[in-house]
Amino acid sequence: MTIYRSHIADFPTPDESLFTFLFEGKVDREIPGATPAFIDAPTGRTITRSELKAACLSLGWGLTNIFAKKLGGVELTRGDTVMIFSPNSFAWPFALLGSIAAGLRTTLANSSYTPAELGYQWKDSGAKVVFTHPAFVPTVVTMLEAHGFSKTETRKRIIVMGLGDKEAIAKGFIHMDDLLGKGSLSAAERFDGPLSNETVFLCYSSGTTGKPKGVESTHKNIVSVCLMVQPLFPPMQMGMDVMLGFLPFYHIYGAVLLLPFMLLVGSPVVIMPQFEPEAFCQNIEKYKVSMSLIVPPVCLAIIHHPATNKYNLKTLRFIMSGAAPLGASLISAVHNKLKSVGANTVIPQGYGLTEMSPVSHLLPHDQFLSKVGSAGLLIPNLEARLVGIDGVDVKPGEPGELWLRGPTVMKGYLNNPTATKESITADGWYKTGDVCTRDADGFYHIVDRIKELIKYKGFQVPPAEMEALLLQHPKIVDAAVIGVYSEEEATELPRAYVVPKVKPAPGAESATLSKEIQEWVRERVAKHKFLRGGVVIIDQVPKSAAGKILRRQLRDLAKTEYILK
Ligand code: AMP
Repeated sequence: MTIYRSHIADFPTPDESLFTFLFEGKVDREIPGATPAFIDAPTGRTITRSELKAACLSLGWGLTNIFAKKLGGVELTRGDTVMIFSPNSFAWPFALLGSIAAGLRTTLANSSYTPAELGYQWKDSGAKVVFTHPAFVPTVVTMLEAHGFSKTETRKRIIVMGLGDKEAIAKGFIHMDDLLGKGSLSAAERFDGPLSNETVFLCYSSGTTGKPKGVESTHKNIVSVCLMVQPLFPPMQMGMDVMLGFLPFYHIYGAVLLLPFMLLVGSPVVIMPQFEPEAFCQNIEKYKVSMSLIVPPVCLAIIHHPATNKYNLKTLRFIMSGAAPLGASLISAVHNKLKSVGANTVIPQGYGLTEMSPVSHLLPHDQFLSKVGSAGLLIPNLEARLVGIDGVDVKPGEPGELWLRGPTVMKGYLNNPTATKESITADGWYKTGDVCTRDADGFYHIVDRIKELIKYKGFQVPPAEMEALLLQHPKIVDAAVIGVYSEEEATELPRAYVVPKVKPAPGAESATLSKEIQEWVRERVAKHKFLRGGVVIIDQVPKSAAGKILRRQLRDLAKTEYILK
């Protein structure tokens, strides 16, 4: 067995609750309470760390002492799960950290989910209540009604998010403001010692195969990852650095690196509801932003959008890409573009997975050009192996599946011991499903993915879920979905290969059926799952003797095709 370790010495991480770690211990003593924590990009509204802490303890009190007893909501007690279903907003960190202060688990749902997709996660996670943005109340009501809740019952299960803007929302629903300012937890619920292995986040990931599963990330996982990534981030200067946060908080990448991690380092996050090139550049100028976390397609916008030339971006010294591969040529191009407008920005990338809480590798900022294209070095406290298909560790320099071990490996998949056992070995190695090489200096390159997963702009598109959906189409008898890479969009695009009941004639008839299927899917899924890579009609889905889809054959086929989208 060849085990690799980080070049940085390992160190112990505390067995502490996340809230306690951030607000009631060393971190809290070292960072002044008057330091801004979050800034709402559209309005400039700011909250300091001490105001945030007070508001979260107050919301935590409201959730456990007012929501059921005074407002008619359902009872919430330590260990229960609440769902957050909203795009980024100023209220989002309160919903998350207030719930955590009250000892609740949080399941984070993609804000573009349809009621059916939301319902899957609601049921699977066992959530009792949904925090949601005012505009999303109808989606949640539809979802709850589909699960048998009456109109009155839905009102016990929804908390409308917002701070001081109650008028703006649908009447008759419980609002976050109703829970605030009525009392305060004297201290957050603690999950220390062995209890730090209790779950705090339930994000959804399809892992190496199948449908999305609830990834149980524990307090210990999240506290550890925040401390473990810190040595590989460029040093941040409290009071100077400002982070621009548009990555969705509901993806673990945003949920960890923009929320607890930034609270640990003490620099404020300017919250944007989503990425939009003009607002991105405008906010950099307005808030003198020095850092941002991105996904690869954002680089294209920086390179091509006129806003890059319009605003002063000189303060931007660091952007880190993650969640999907960022190619060497794109890194150089975005670096040069920013240089041409006077910004000397470093653009390293990181690698990770929801199941690793989520970061395992980071490229040091001063090596982003000398090791361009690398996913980085292993962060401290982790061990890595590169394992061949025969189950034996490969020789140095050869590609192998990345296996990881350490304090940030998830606890497991919720209520799914089989999937957990298949992905974590008895001695604690998590099998990533990604194939990597490691060079003599310890830098890793992701060279292939052996798991089924497709990623559209950093979002997961689970093929098994898409295939199950396509099989419900009345004209389809079999289907397989793979990802095809688009250089133009710097992302994979989901493409379906379908076997129709009645084969259409080649040409116009086939094109019409493909379009019809694409449209049919658009009406049923969140937008990152649209079949942007096209729908191809085939005679038979290639399968192994055991009935497993031979995706490699389809990927090879895709390389030879030109698809009209
Ligand atoms: P998620 O759990 O949604 O974060 O997806 C994790 C998957 O995204 C990994 O298993 C990889 O396949 C892919 N991924 C994340 N970061 C990178 C990267 N820097 N380079 C290549 N693939 C990446």
